Amino acid sequence: MQGDEPGRLARQVVDRCADCELCRDLMEDAPCLFFPQLFRLHDREKAENRKITSAELRGLLDLCNMCGLCSCPDVRTDIMRAKDAFIARDGLSPAIRLLEDVERVARICGSAPRLANLLLGKEPSASLLKRLLGVHRERVVPEFPREGFAAWARRRGLHEKHPVSGRKVAYFAGCTARVLFPDVAKAAVEVLERNGVSVYVPEQKCCGMPSLLEGDRPFTFKVAEFNLRHLDAAVQDGYDIVCSCPTCGYMLKKVLCEGAFYSEEYRASFKKMMEEARGDTGKAAEWMVRDGAGSNGGATPPSPRCGPPQGFTQYFSAHLQDEGYFRSLNGLKRIAIASHTYDLGEYLSDLDQAGELDRNMGAVPGRMAYYAPCHLKEQNIGQPWFDLIGLVPGASIEKVGAPFDCCGMAGVMGFKREFHEVSIAMGSRLMEKIKEKNPDKLVSDCLSCRIQFNQVLPYSVYHPVEILSAAYGAAAPLPQRERPSSAAARRSLPSPR
Ligand code: SF4
Ligand code: SF4
Repeated sequence: MQGDEPGRLARQVVDRCADCELCRDLMEDAPCLFFPQLFRLHDREKAENRKITSAELRGLLDLCNMCGLCSCPDVRTDIMRAKDAFIARDGLSPAIRLLEDVERVARICGSAPRLANLLLGKEPSASLLKRLLGVHRERVVPEFPREGFAAWARRRGLHEKHPVSGRKVAYFAGCTARVLFPDVAKAAVEVLERNGVSVYVPEQKCCGMPSLLEGDRPFTFKVAEFNLRHLDAAVQDGYDIVCSCPTCGYMLKKVLCEGAFYSEEYRASFKKMMEEARGDTGKAAEWMVRDGAGSNGGATPPSPRCGPPQGFTQYFSAHLQDEGYFRSLNGLKRIAIASHTYDLGEYLSDLDQAGELDRNMGAVPGRMAYYAPCHLKEQNIGQPWFDLIGLVPGASIEKVGAPFDCCGMAGVMGFKREFHEVSIAMGSRLMEKIKEKNPDKLVSDCLSCRIQFNQVLPYSVYHPVEILSAAYGAAAPLPQRERPSSAAARRSLPSPR
C-alpha cells in the first residue's frame, strides 16, 4: 500500500464521527477509549490548528476493541478497514502474529502442557516467554490443559455426523474453550446431550475476531473461509450451529453477515424467488423470512438475523451494495450461517419455551453474580443464561454490570504489552461493581472475561453451562477454581480512563 492511504481511511472515520457527534455524549458512560480520544484529537485540531498526525490516527484505531457498544456497525467496519490498511503497509510484529493465532500457541504449548505451565509459572522463564510472545509481564496466563477439547470430542466420535432423527447441532466451541478451557466445551456437549440433542463437532478454526482486531486481514479471511465452508456444509445437512462463546456467536451471526442481503448472490436468488412467486410479494416475503429463520424445530419464531432489506421497492430501487467487511465471501452462505446460529443459552432457552428442557436438576447452592458480556448484548437475545440458572435449585443469582460495562479484555488484546494497562482500566468500573456484590461464584459466558476476572478478582469463575452441567450430574460437584496468584492480580485497580 502506497503513501498514507491508511491515514486517509482513518481520517474518514474521524471526520464522519466529528460531523455526527452523537457518540460524544452517548458513549460517555461506556468504557470505550476510542471516542474520547477521537473527539480530543478533533477538538485539539480545531482549537490549535494542529493537524492530527498519521501516528495519532494509528494509535486511535488501536483503542477500539470491537466491543460493539457504539451505534454504527459501518463505522466499526471502517475502523477495521483502516487498521487493515496500516498493517498491510507497515506489517505485523512476529509476536502479535503468534499471539493472535491461539490455536498455534496451543499447539506449541499444548504438545507439552506440563512443561509450558512450569515455564510460564516460574521466574525468570515466565518473563522471558512473555517478552517473546509480546505478553505484558503482569498478565496471568491460564494453565494449558492436559487434553484439549478436540481430542476429547474425537475420542467420543463427535467429529463425525451420525444419522439422527431428532434435534441436531453443530457445536462451534471457539478456540478459548477448545484449547484453554475444555471443561466448558465438554459441559456444553453434556448439557445438550442430556436434553436429547445430538452433537456434532465440525472441523473449525478461530472465529477470526482476534486477528480482525489486529488488522490481520489475510489471516482473518483464511479462517473465515474455512469456517464458512464447514459450517455451511453442516447447515445444508440440517444442523443448527450452536456457540457457547458470545464472541463467536456475534461473529457468525452479525459481523460475518453484515451487508450479505445486498450481495450479488442474494440479489440473484431473490430475483429468482420473485420470478417463481410470479410477482406475489406476499409469498416472496414469506420465503424471505423462511430463508432467514433458524431451523431448531420451530421453537424460535422465524426472524432473519442480520438485517435483510426493509422493503421490496426500496430493495430494488436503492442501489445499495454489500459494504460488509466480509463482502468478498459468498453472501448466501453468510446468511445461511447467520440465520442458523444460536447462542447456547438462547438454544437451551428455546428448548425450555418449547417444554423440552429437562428441568430435573440437582441443587447447586451459592450466591452467584452473573455478568452478561458485550458480545452477548450485541446479539439482542436478552440474557437467557440468567433465566436458565434461575431454574437451578439452591442457586441464588443476581445480575452485575450496567449495559455499558465491559471487562476490557478484548480477546487477546488484553494480553498485549501495549494494551494491558488500558484493558485493566477499561474493566475497572465493572470489577468494582462485582466486588460490591462479593459473590460465592462469578458467572459469565465469555471466557475472555474469565481471564480478566481471574487477573483482578479473587472469585471462582464459571461459564453458566458448567453450573447447569453440575445441576444435571449431582455426583460431580463444581470444582473450586484456583485464584490468581501473581502480585499483579492482587494489586489495586486503576480507575477508569
Ligand atoms: S459511530 Fe455513528 S453515531 Fe457514533 S459518532 Fe460515529 S457516526 Fe455518529
Ligand atoms: S466498538 Fe466498542 S471500543 Fe470500538 S468504537 Fe465502538 S464502543 Fe468504542
